[in-house]
Amino acid sequence: MSTSNPVPVTPETVRAAPKVLLHDHLDGGLRPATVIELADAVGYPDLPTQDPAELRTWFRTAADSGSLVRYLETFAHTCGVMQTQDALVRVAAECAEDLAADGVVYAEVRYAPELFSERGLHLDTIVAAVQEGFRQGEARAREQGRPIRIGTLLCAMRQNARSLEIAELAVRHRDSGVVGFDIAGPEAGFPPTRNLDAFEYLRQQNAHFTIHAGEAFGLPSIWEAIQHCGAERLGHGVRIVDDIKVDEDGTIHLGRLASYVRDRRIPLEMCPSSNVQTGAAPSIAEHPIGLLTKLRFRVTVNTDNRLMSGCSPSSEMSALVDAFGYDWADLQWFTINAMKSAFIGFDERLAIINEIIKPGYAKLIG
Ligand SMILES: [Zn+2]
Repeated sequence: MSTSNPVPVTPETVRAAPKVLLHDHLDGGLRPATVIELADAVGYPDLPTQDPAELRTWFRTAADSGSLVRYLETFAHTCGVMQTQDALVRVAAECAEDLAADGVVYAEVRYAPELFSERGLHLDTIVAAVQEGFRQGEARAREQGRPIRIGTLLCAMRQNARSLEIAELAVRHRDSGVVGFDIAGPEAGFPPTRNLDAFEYLRQQNAHFTIHAGEAFGLPSIWEAIQHCGAERLGHGVRIVDDIKVDEDGTIHLGRLASYVRDRRIPLEMCPSSNVQTGAAPSIAEHPIGLLTKLRFRVTVNTDNRLMSGCSPSSEMSALVDAFGYDWADLQWFTINAMKSAFIGFDERLAIINEIIKPGYAKLIG
């Protein structure tokens, strides 16, 4: 009964299509105007400009500069204004609204609570404020006819030594919207095995976790994350291509680790624009996501830091359409991959796939 009359794939139609996001940092997605207003409200004096358009450009160029110092400065500003309950509620609510407006139907947004305690907020207070913000944002999105569901992941920072404490925090709040745990921050020098007690605790609690691995650092980081720590998903995981060899005649050989990741359907939370900015990939067109998609790894498409990369879930998808010629079937595949890989319950994942994602793409495929 197919009419074979697909809707054209354009930035606008991709924006309207249902999407699922698994890797997005709360402190990397603020609206520039909100950064300025919150800086004023909380008395944060260090912003480079008071003009929202200029600030938007500043974030993008600082993150693009190749300088780690300038890149980290971008997060000093966003975290600097996220030190009160009101600020956290507002940032989370706007995050939900912005993602819903971009066509996201389910998102897992992550943040490191320890970064928001500089002015004395208790970790549990921080988590409760973010949850309150997401509930408010979900309600507003529903009123606007763009329903979205948000789960949160709590990150521990690799360079600090608080991962067990943050893992316990995640388990304590798992019935109020925290769906998992992650470790973030510098990979080099801070292997995931430094946090084994946290991962052991989470496994004993039947809790879910992903690990940032294989972004800046190579295969050992991915191997440790999976085989020592028990990560269910890989944050980025882009360096898994180092274990894949393509001969001149096009024959492809997967090493044992790459085979394991593909065979076990371990989800890759890929963030193309972010990887280009940090130098983990030379360009979107040369990003390993093309090869990994062709080989049918469990690839998902994500934003990482929307403000710093000047991107959105739909713009990432559109960039892949431009680079690789993907069609609606490919975009649906990425979206269902992500929904299958989410940390909420099986019933809930299935309902979103069958009631929202598949009918949504069926209309587009025609
Ligand atoms: Zn990340």
